[in-house]
Amino acid sequence: MLTSDQVTTNHPAQGPVKKPYSFFHNVEMWFDKAARFTKWEKGILEQIKACNAVYRMRFPVKIGDHIEVIEAYRVQHSHHKLPCKGGIRYSEEVNQDEVMALAALMTYKCAIVNVPFGGAKGGIRINPKKYSVYELEKITRRYTSELIKKNFIGPGIDVPAPDYGTGEREMSWILDTYLSLKPGELDGLGCVTGKPVSQGGVRGRKEATGRGVFYGLREVLSHKEDMKRIGLEPGVEGKTVIVQGLGNVGYHTAKFFYEAGAKIICLIEWDAAIYNPKGLNPDEVVKFREETGSIKNFPGAQTLRRNTDGLELECDILIPAALENVIDADNAPRIKAKIIGEAANGPLTIEADEILLKKNVLVVPDVFLNAGGVTVSYFEWLKNLQHVRYGRIEKRFTANLNHLILEQIEKNTGKPVDESHRRLIEHGPDEIDLVNSGLEETMIEAVQEIREIWHSHPDIPDMRTAAFVNAINKIGEAYAQLGIFP
Ligand code: GLU
Repeated sequence: MLTSDQVTTNHPAQGPVKKPYSFFHNVEMWFDKAARFTKWEKGILEQIKACNAVYRMRFPVKIGDHIEVIEAYRVQHSHHKLPCKGGIRYSEEVNQDEVMALAALMTYKCAIVNVPFGGAKGGIRINPKKYSVYELEKITRRYTSELIKKNFIGPGIDVPAPDYGTGEREMSWILDTYLSLKPGELDGLGCVTGKPVSQGGVRGRKEATGRGVFYGLREVLSHKEDMKRIGLEPGVEGKTVIVQGLGNVGYHTAKFFYEAGAKIICLIEWDAAIYNPKGLNPDEVVKFREETGSIKNFPGAQTLRRNTDGLELECDILIPAALENVIDADNAPRIKAKIIGEAANGPLTIEADEILLKKNVLVVPDVFLNAGGVTVSYFEWLKNLQHVRYGRIEKRFTANLNHLILEQIEKNTGKPVDESHRRLIEHGPDEIDLVNSGLEETMIEAVQEIREIWHSHPDIPDMRTAAFVNAINKIGEAYAQLGIFP
């Protein structure tokens, strides 16, 4: 485990940089900052903070005519609720410290949005772009079999999901490997989430993290007093937004903001950043990237000299949606955004956080803001355990009743009910309606809980500390109730 004083991390833009602490230690420092505002004894706090189980593996895979030894991890940070839950990342930067930090963030994230899981995370240290689809499938299946061997996967044990560099395709391979090696397991479908809908996935999971980021920020933006403090008008419409990362999370976040009337003035990718003060349509940019291989030279926009320059432009909301450590002590003083919405995990270092607080920037933390993914994963897992599609039984049951209600409403109001409401009343909600409304309610409720803690104590400096206080209290309560075994 990396906890030495000097740690070299790979900054996406600057290459290897020396940091005074590791990513996991950074998460521990955020935890400690918040723990001061809780009542829990040192032992409980230490137990909440620690990673319960770290599985570091190396396995051989045949690539072409040679054998490659692959380095991979699965970390279960907390067992206070089971199963453990968290994505699997494919990236060349994967290392034990990073996976531990991400697993810890999952624990706090789940507690904040009241999703009853412990935190976990997995990672394979590869650049997926360097492998064929067939080779990626072999690596994924071998990794899954290693998890099965050590009892690190299962619907009641530990349930992976997509993360940076993985998606529905990889989740299908994991499912198939699991079902092949554990035949007849009744709840086997629930061994992984983020699956395609045709393989037991749930509608709305793919866009869930981005949608959650949108709902979360929209709620934050609706609070007049908080907005006044940073000099912004409440509401999403007309806000200038910059998004870093056009992967699944960044693209959907940008799309929901665009559709709600915000102006996406800059989009930043790993190889280029484009700027147009009149606004960019994320769908057009993604289409252009599909055709040309890059967002560079997107018509009508200025391609910036360095892609990281995009982070430092003037805007209302800056949304880092790629990797950790993109805003640190070096570039934080140059940030001009009024709000930073952490769609990625760990995009700010603790020093950046402190600098931005002094600059009166409102940081909406990852542990809350990107929880939409795991929230909808929870819905998918529940659906798998129930062996039924959401809405199917209720719809038949209430169809006649709903028709009567519709007639009554039209009679009372003297006018026809509009089309979307008619569909909802006549047919009952579809799976996607239930998923999206459940997600919306979850994100709104989480903002309310965090604000209540934040404003209840004059010394709690920011939303991140308040969010951690919230998580620590819920997990502490679970430990207090469960007691210590033996
Ligand atoms: N990888 C996502 C995250 O970091 C989703 C995890 C999940 O759905 O379990 O939150």
